Amino acid sequence: MIKRKYQICSNCIMDTTDPNIIFDNEGICDYCKNYKITILPNWNSGDKGNIELLRIAEIIKKNGIGKDFDCIIGLSGGLDSSYAAYVAKEIMGLRPLIFHVDAGWNTDKAVGNIEKICNGLGLELYTNVINWEEMKDLQVSFLKSQIADQDLPQDYAFFSGLYKFARKNKIKYVLTGANFSTECCREPLEWGGFPGIDTLLVKDIHAKFGKRRLKTFPLVDILTYKLFYRYILGMQVFKPLNLLPYLKTDAEKLLMDKFGWEPFQHKHHESRFTRFYEDFWLPRKFGFEKRRAHFSSLILTGQMSRDEALDRISKPELSEEFLQKEFDYVADKLDLSREELQSIFRGNNKTFNEYKNKIKLIRFGAYLMQKLGLENRLYR
Ligand SMILES: [Zn+2]
Repeated sequence: MIKRKYQICSNCIMDTTDPNIIFDNEGICDYCKNYKITILPNWNSGDKGNIELLRIAEIIKKNGIGKDFDCIIGLSGGLDSSYAAYVAKEIMGLRPLIFHVDAGWNTDKAVGNIEKICNGLGLELYTNVINWEEMKDLQVSFLKSQIADQDLPQDYAFFSGLYKFARKNKIKYVLTGANFSTECCREPLEWGGFPGIDTLLVKDIHAKFGKRRLKTFPLVDILTYKLFYRYILGMQVFKPLNLLPYLKTDAEKLLMDKFGWEPFQHKHHESRFTRFYEDFWLPRKFGFEKRRAHFSSLILTGQMSRDEALDRISKPELSEEFLQKEFDYVADKLDLSREELQSIFRGNNKTFNEYKNKIKLIRFGAYLMQKLGLENRLYR
Protein backbone atom coordinates (compact mmCIF):
# COMPACT_ATOMS: atom_id res chain seq x y z
CA MET A 1 0.00 0.00 0.00
CA ILE A 2 1.33 3.45 -0.90
CA LYS A 3 1.53 5.68 2.14
CA ARG A 4 -0.52 8.84 1.79
CA LYS A 5 0.98 12.22 2.44
CA TYR A 6 -0.19 13.47 5.84
CA GLN A 7 -3.15 15.84 5.69
CA ILE A 8 -5.50 17.23 8.31
CA CYS A 9 -8.88 18.80 7.62
CA SER A 10 -8.86 22.58 7.63
CA ASN A 11 -12.22 22.70 9.42
CA CYS A 12 -12.16 19.79 11.93
CA ILE A 13 -9.16 17.74 13.08
CA MET A 14 -9.80 14.47 11.23
CA ASP A 15 -6.73 13.46 9.27
CA THR A 16 -5.11 10.79 7.14
CA THR A 17 -4.87 8.41 10.11
CA ASP A 18 -8.27 7.55 8.65
CA PRO A 19 -6.92 5.87 5.50
CA ASN A 20 -10.12 6.51 3.53
CA ILE A 21 -10.66 10.18 4.35
CA ILE A 22 -11.33 12.40 1.32
CA PHE A 23 -10.46 16.09 1.09
CA ASP A 24 -11.87 18.67 -1.30
CA ASN A 25 -9.91 21.49 -2.98
CA GLU A 26 -10.21 23.65 0.11
CA GLY A 27 -8.86 20.90 2.33
CA ILE A 28 -12.22 20.15 3.94
CA CYS A 29 -12.87 16.49 4.73
CA ASP A 30 -15.83 14.30 3.89
CA TYR A 31 -16.92 14.13 7.56
CA CYS A 32 -17.46 17.89 7.50
CA LYS A 33 -19.23 17.68 4.19
CA ASN A 34 -21.43 14.82 5.35
CA TYR A 35 -22.32 16.79 8.47
CA LYS A 36 -23.48 19.75 6.40
CA ILE A 37 -25.25 17.85 3.65
CA THR A 38 -26.74 14.84 5.44
CA ILE A 39 -26.82 15.32 9.20
CA LEU A 40 -27.79 18.96 9.68
CA PRO A 41 -30.86 18.95 7.40
CA ASN A 42 -32.18 15.86 9.21
CA TRP A 43 -31.43 17.00 12.74
CA ASN A 44 -34.37 18.72 14.37
CA SER A 45 -33.57 19.71 17.92
CA GLY A 46 -36.01 22.64 17.92
CA ASP A 47 -39.82 22.72 17.80
CA LYS A 48 -40.06 19.97 15.21
CA GLY A 49 -37.87 17.73 17.35
CA ASN A 50 -39.90 18.53 20.43
CA ILE A 51 -43.14 17.49 18.74
CA GLU A 52 -41.49 14.23 17.66
CA LEU A 53 -40.11 13.66 21.18
CA LEU A 54 -43.55 14.01 22.73
CA ARG A 55 -45.14 11.87 20.03
CA ILE A 56 -42.68 9.06 20.85
CA ALA A 57 -43.30 9.55 24.56
CA GLU A 58 -47.04 9.06 24.01
CA ILE A 59 -46.52 5.81 22.09
CA ILE A 60 -44.22 4.44 24.79
CA LYS A 61 -46.56 5.46 27.61
CA LYS A 62 -49.59 3.95 25.91
CA ASN A 63 -47.86 0.64 25.34
CA GLY A 64 -46.54 0.62 28.87
CA ILE A 65 -49.91 0.84 30.64
CA GLY A 66 -50.15 -1.91 33.25
CA LYS A 67 -46.45 -2.73 33.05
CA ASP A 68 -43.81 -2.06 35.70
CA PHE A 69 -41.67 -0.12 33.22
CA ASP A 70 -42.45 1.34 29.83
CA CYS A 71 -38.90 1.38 28.46
CA ILE A 72 -35.30 0.52 29.27
CA ILE A 73 -32.14 2.65 29.27
CA GLY A 74 -28.60 1.35 29.49
CA LEU A 75 -26.68 3.55 31.91
CA SER A 76 -22.88 3.68 32.05
CA GLY A 77 -22.63 6.69 34.34
CA GLY A 78 -21.18 8.76 31.47
CA LEU A 79 -22.77 11.96 30.23
CA ASP A 80 -24.84 10.75 27.28
CA SER A 81 -26.62 7.89 29.00
CA SER A 82 -27.07 9.87 32.23
CA TYR A 83 -28.67 12.73 30.35
CA ALA A 84 -30.84 10.32 28.37
CA ALA A 85 -32.18 8.96 31.68
CA TYR A 86 -32.95 12.50 32.82
CA VAL A 87 -34.74 13.34 29.56
CA ALA A 88 -36.77 10.12 29.63
CA LYS A 89 -38.06 10.71 33.15
CA GLU A 90 -38.30 14.48 33.46
CA ILE A 91 -39.06 15.62 29.92
CA MET A 92 -40.79 12.66 28.31
CA GLY A 93 -42.56 11.59 31.52
CA LEU A 94 -41.61 7.94 31.05
CA ARG A 95 -41.05 5.15 33.57
CA PRO A 96 -37.74 3.66 32.43
CA LEU A 97 -35.93 0.77 34.02
CA ILE A 98 -32.28 1.67 34.33
CA PHE A 99 -30.07 -1.17 33.22
CA HIS A 100 -26.38 -1.32 33.98
CA VAL A 101 -23.89 -3.93 32.86
CA ASP A 102 -20.96 -4.34 35.21
CA ALA A 103 -18.13 -5.81 33.17
CA GLY A 104 -15.60 -5.29 35.95
CA TRP A 105 -14.05 -1.99 34.87
CA ASN A 106 -16.28 0.67 36.40
CA THR A 107 -14.50 3.69 37.82
CA ASP A 108 -15.68 4.81 41.25
CA LYS A 109 -17.03 7.95 39.64
CA ALA A 110 -19.15 5.91 37.23
CA VAL A 111 -20.61 3.86 40.10
CA GLY A 112 -21.30 7.06 42.05
CA ASN A 113 -22.99 8.68 39.06
CA ILE A 114 -25.24 5.70 38.42
CA GLU A 115 -26.38 5.81 42.04
CA LYS A 116 -26.93 9.56 41.96
CA ILE A 117 -28.95 9.45 38.75
CA CYS A 118 -31.16 6.57 39.91
CA ASN A 119 -31.73 8.01 43.37
CA GLY A 120 -32.18 11.54 42.08
CA LEU A 121 -34.74 10.52 39.49
CA GLY A 122 -36.35 7.85 41.65
CA LEU A 123 -35.68 5.13 39.07
CA GLU A 124 -35.12 1.45 39.63
CA LEU A 125 -31.70 0.07 38.74
CA TYR A 126 -30.99 -3.43 37.51
CA THR A 127 -27.32 -4.39 37.39
CA ASN A 128 -26.20 -7.26 35.21
CA VAL A 129 -22.85 -8.49 36.52
CA ILE A 130 -20.82 -10.27 33.85
CA ASN A 131 -18.99 -13.42 34.94
CA TRP A 132 -15.53 -12.03 35.48
CA GLU A 133 -13.64 -15.22 34.55
CA GLU A 134 -15.39 -15.29 31.17
CA MET A 135 -14.95 -11.56 30.65
CA LYS A 136 -11.25 -11.83 31.43
CA ASP A 137 -10.76 -14.80 29.12
CA LEU A 138 -12.47 -12.96 26.26
CA GLN A 139 -10.51 -9.77 26.82
CA VAL A 140 -7.18 -11.59 26.92
CA SER A 141 -8.20 -13.44 23.73
CA PHE A 142 -8.88 -10.12 22.03
CA LEU A 143 -5.57 -8.67 23.20
CA LYS A 144 -3.76 -11.71 21.81
CA SER A 145 -5.63 -11.37 18.50
CA GLN A 146 -3.71 -8.09 18.01
CA ILE A 147 -6.65 -6.29 16.41
CA ALA A 148 -7.33 -2.63 17.12
CA ASP A 149 -10.89 -3.30 18.32
CA GLN A 150 -10.08 -4.00 21.97
CA ASP A 151 -13.28 -2.58 23.39
CA LEU A 152 -15.58 -5.06 21.66
CA PRO A 153 -15.83 -7.45 24.65
CA GLN A 154 -17.15 -4.63 26.86
CA ASP A 155 -19.39 -3.16 24.15
CA TYR A 156 -20.81 -6.56 23.31
CA ALA A 157 -21.52 -7.27 26.96
CA PHE A 158 -23.28 -3.91 27.41
CA PHE A 159 -25.54 -4.17 24.38
CA SER A 160 -26.18 -7.89 24.40
CA GLY A 161 -26.91 -7.83 28.13
CA LEU A 162 -29.47 -5.11 27.61
CA TYR A 163 -31.12 -6.67 24.57
CA LYS A 164 -31.39 -10.06 26.25
CA PHE A 165 -32.90 -8.57 29.38
CA ALA A 166 -35.37 -6.46 27.41
CA ARG A 167 -36.48 -9.44 25.39
CA LYS A 168 -36.89 -11.67 28.42
CA ASN A 169 -38.92 -9.05 30.24
CA LYS A 170 -40.91 -8.05 27.16
CA ILE A 171 -39.73 -4.43 27.24
CA LYS A 172 -40.25 -3.14 23.72
CA TYR A 173 -38.64 0.26 23.83
CA VAL A 174 -34.95 0.97 24.26
CA LEU A 175 -33.78 4.54 24.76
CA THR A 176 -30.12 5.35 24.22
CA GLY A 177 -27.85 8.32 24.73
CA ALA A 178 -26.56 8.08 21.13
CA ASN A 179 -26.54 11.55 19.63
CA PHE A 180 -25.25 13.79 16.87
CA SER A 181 -24.14 16.56 19.21
CA THR A 182 -21.12 14.72 20.60
CA GLU A 183 -20.89 11.85 18.09
CA CYS A 184 -21.71 13.21 14.62
CA CYS A 185 -18.21 12.44 13.43
CA ARG A 186 -18.20 8.67 13.47
CA GLU A 187 -14.92 6.92 14.26
CA PRO A 188 -13.69 5.09 11.17
CA LEU A 189 -13.78 1.30 11.22
CA GLU A 190 -9.99 1.11 11.07
CA TRP A 191 -9.68 2.83 14.46
CA GLY A 192 -11.07 -0.11 16.32
CA GLY A 193 -14.64 0.83 15.56
CA PHE A 194 -15.97 -2.47 14.25
CA PRO A 195 -19.69 -1.81 13.81
CA GLY A 196 -22.35 -3.81 15.59
CA ILE A 197 -22.10 -7.17 17.31
CA ASP A 198 -20.53 -9.84 15.13
CA THR A 199 -20.69 -13.21 16.89
CA LEU A 200 -18.65 -14.80 14.08
CA LEU A 201 -15.71 -12.52 14.87
CA VAL A 202 -15.91 -13.06 18.65
CA LYS A 203 -16.23 -16.80 18.33
CA ASP A 204 -13.30 -17.08 15.93
CA ILE A 205 -11.01 -14.99 18.13
CA HIS A 206 -12.12 -16.80 21.26
CA ALA A 207 -11.70 -20.22 19.60
CA LYS A 208 -8.11 -19.33 18.72
CA PHE A 209 -7.00 -17.72 21.99
CA GLY A 210 -9.57 -18.48 24.68
CA LYS A 211 -9.11 -20.96 27.50
CA ARG A 212 -12.56 -21.34 28.99
CA ARG A 213 -16.03 -21.73 27.59
CA LEU A 214 -18.26 -18.69 27.46
CA LYS A 215 -21.26 -20.13 29.25
CA THR A 216 -23.04 -17.01 30.42
CA PHE A 217 -21.43 -14.16 28.50
CA PRO A 218 -24.26 -12.37 26.68
CA LEU A 219 -23.91 -12.29 22.90
CA VAL A 220 -26.70 -11.16 20.61
CA ASP A 221 -25.66 -10.95 16.97
CA ILE A 222 -26.31 -7.83 14.89
CA LEU A 223 -28.61 -9.77 12.54
CA THR A 224 -30.63 -11.00 15.50
CA TYR A 225 -31.27 -7.58 16.97
CA LYS A 226 -31.53 -5.67 13.68
CA LEU A 227 -33.97 -8.15 12.16
CA PHE A 228 -35.53 -10.58 14.66
CA TYR A 229 -35.74 -8.20 17.63
CA ARG A 230 -36.79 -5.30 15.47
CA TYR A 231 -39.26 -6.84 13.07
CA ILE A 232 -40.51 -9.97 14.80
CA LEU A 233 -40.49 -8.85 18.43
CA GLY A 234 -41.18 -5.22 17.52
CA MET A 235 -38.41 -3.84 19.67
CA GLN A 236 -37.59 -0.22 18.89
CA VAL A 237 -34.60 1.95 19.71
CA PHE A 238 -35.03 5.69 20.19
CA LYS A 239 -32.38 8.41 20.49
CA PRO A 240 -34.10 11.22 22.42
CA LEU A 241 -30.98 13.39 22.64
CA ASN A 242 -31.29 14.19 18.93
CA LEU A 243 -34.73 15.67 19.43
CA LEU A 244 -33.83 18.48 21.83
CA PRO A 245 -31.00 20.97 22.33
CA TYR A 246 -28.15 18.92 23.79
CA LEU A 247 -24.90 20.68 24.56
CA LYS A 248 -22.17 18.93 26.50
CA THR A 249 -21.34 21.62 29.06
CA ASP A 250 -24.99 22.58 29.65
CA ALA A 251 -25.97 18.95 30.17
CA GLU A 252 -23.05 18.38 32.55
CA LYS A 253 -23.98 21.45 34.56
CA LEU A 254 -27.61 20.41 34.83
CA LEU A 255 -26.71 16.93 36.06
CA MET A 256 -24.16 18.33 38.52
CA ASP A 257 -26.59 20.91 39.93
CA LYS A 258 -29.57 18.59 40.15
CA PHE A 259 -27.98 15.30 41.20
CA GLY A 260 -24.39 15.94 42.25
CA TRP A 261 -23.35 13.96 39.17
CA GLU A 262 -19.62 14.25 38.44
CA PRO A 263 -18.19 14.98 34.98
CA PHE A 264 -15.39 12.97 33.40
CA GLN A 265 -12.27 14.40 31.90
CA HIS A 266 -13.14 12.82 28.58
CA LYS A 267 -15.78 10.76 26.79
CA HIS A 268 -15.69 7.04 27.68
CA HIS A 269 -13.66 7.59 30.85
CA GLU A 270 -16.32 5.87 32.94
CA SER A 271 -14.64 2.53 32.26
CA ARG A 272 -11.09 2.08 33.46
CA PHE A 273 -10.33 -0.28 30.58
CA THR A 274 -11.76 2.01 27.88
CA ARG A 275 -9.87 4.95 29.33
CA PHE A 276 -6.62 2.98 29.14
CA TYR A 277 -7.44 1.58 25.71
CA GLU A 278 -8.29 4.94 24.15
CA ASP A 279 -5.57 7.00 25.82
CA PHE A 280 -2.72 4.50 25.75
CA TRP A 281 -3.19 1.26 23.80
CA LEU A 282 -4.85 2.55 20.64
CA PRO A 283 -2.76 5.70 20.04
CA ARG A 284 0.58 4.13 20.97
CA LYS A 285 0.21 0.71 19.39
CA PHE A 286 -1.91 1.67 16.38
CA GLY A 287 -1.54 5.44 15.98
CA PHE A 288 -5.30 6.03 16.26
CA GLU A 289 -6.76 8.78 18.42
CA LYS A 290 -10.46 8.37 19.05
CA ARG A 291 -10.38 11.83 20.56
CA ARG A 292 -9.82 13.11 17.03
CA ALA A 293 -13.37 12.06 16.15
CA HIS A 294 -14.80 13.12 19.53
CA PHE A 295 -13.30 16.60 19.27
CA SER A 296 -14.24 16.90 15.59
CA SER A 297 -17.86 16.24 16.56
CA LEU A 298 -17.65 19.06 19.11
CA ILE A 299 -16.04 21.38 16.54
CA LEU A 300 -18.76 20.66 13.97
CA THR A 301 -21.50 21.32 16.51
CA GLY A 302 -19.88 24.54 17.71
CA GLN A 303 -18.91 23.28 21.16
CA MET A 304 -15.13 23.44 20.82
CA SER A 305 -12.69 25.53 18.81
CA ARG A 306 -10.31 23.83 16.39
CA ASP A 307 -7.34 25.41 18.20
CA GLU A 308 -8.48 24.01 21.53
CA ALA A 309 -8.91 20.57 19.95
CA LEU A 310 -5.43 20.69 18.42
CA ASP A 311 -3.96 21.68 21.76
CA ARG A 312 -5.80 18.93 23.68
CA ILE A 313 -4.85 16.21 21.20
CA SER A 314 -1.16 17.19 21.17
CA LYS A 315 -0.80 15.33 24.46
CA PRO A 316 -2.53 12.37 26.18
CA GLU A 317 -5.47 13.17 28.47
CA LEU A 318 -3.64 11.51 31.36
CA SER A 319 -0.12 11.85 32.73
CA GLU A 320 2.59 9.36 31.84
CA GLU A 321 2.88 8.29 35.46
CA PHE A 322 -0.85 7.64 35.67
CA LEU A 323 -0.89 5.69 32.40
CA GLN A 324 2.00 3.48 33.50
CA LYS A 325 0.16 2.73 36.72
CA GLU A 326 -2.94 1.88 34.70
CA PHE A 327 -0.85 -0.42 32.51
CA ASP A 328 0.08 -2.40 35.62
CA TYR A 329 -3.49 -2.33 36.88
CA VAL A 330 -4.88 -3.67 33.59
CA ALA A 331 -2.22 -6.40 33.38
CA ASP A 332 -2.80 -7.42 36.98
CA LYS A 333 -6.58 -7.47 36.65
CA LEU A 334 -6.34 -9.67 33.56
CA ASP A 335 -3.93 -12.03 35.37
CA LEU A 336 -1.11 -11.13 33.02
CA SER A 337 2.34 -10.10 34.15
CA ARG A 338 3.55 -6.67 33.09
CA GLU A 339 5.98 -8.44 30.72
CA GLU A 340 3.19 -10.51 29.16
CA LEU A 341 1.06 -7.46 28.47
CA GLN A 342 4.11 -5.63 27.19
CA SER A 343 4.94 -8.43 24.79
CA ILE A 344 1.36 -8.34 23.43
CA PHE A 345 1.70 -4.57 23.14
CA ARG A 346 4.88 -4.95 21.09
CA GLY A 347 3.44 -7.75 18.91
CA ASN A 348 2.50 -7.25 15.26
CA ASN A 349 -0.77 -5.45 14.73
CA LYS A 350 -3.53 -7.18 12.82
CA THR A 351 -6.95 -6.22 11.53
CA PHE A 352 -10.32 -7.90 12.03
CA ASN A 353 -10.07 -9.05 8.41
CA GLU A 354 -7.56 -11.65 9.52
CA TYR A 355 -10.38 -13.36 11.43
CA LYS A 356 -13.75 -14.69 10.36
CA ASN A 357 -16.31 -11.90 10.31
CA LYS A 358 -19.51 -10.66 8.71
CA ILE A 359 -18.27 -7.18 7.82
CA LYS A 360 -19.40 -7.42 4.18
CA LEU A 361 -22.92 -8.24 5.23
CA ILE A 362 -22.89 -5.53 7.91
CA ARG A 363 -21.58 -3.00 5.37
CA PHE A 364 -24.31 -3.96 2.95
CA GLY A 365 -26.91 -3.53 5.68
CA ALA A 366 -25.46 -0.13 6.57
CA TYR A 367 -25.52 0.88 2.92
CA LEU A 368 -29.20 -0.02 2.74
CA MET A 369 -29.89 1.90 5.95
CA GLN A 370 -28.25 4.97 4.45
CA LYS A 371 -30.17 4.63 1.19
CA LEU A 372 -33.39 4.38 3.18
CA GLY A 373 -32.40 7.43 5.21
CA LEU A 374 -32.15 5.51 8.50
CA GLU A 375 -28.48 6.32 9.15
CA ASN A 376 -27.10 9.76 8.45
CA ARG A 377 -23.59 9.51 9.80
CA LEU A 378 -20.83 8.88 7.33
CA TYR A 379 -20.25 5.18 7.04
CA ARG A 380 -17.92 3.77 4.44
ZN1 LIG B 1 -13.36 17.89 8.57
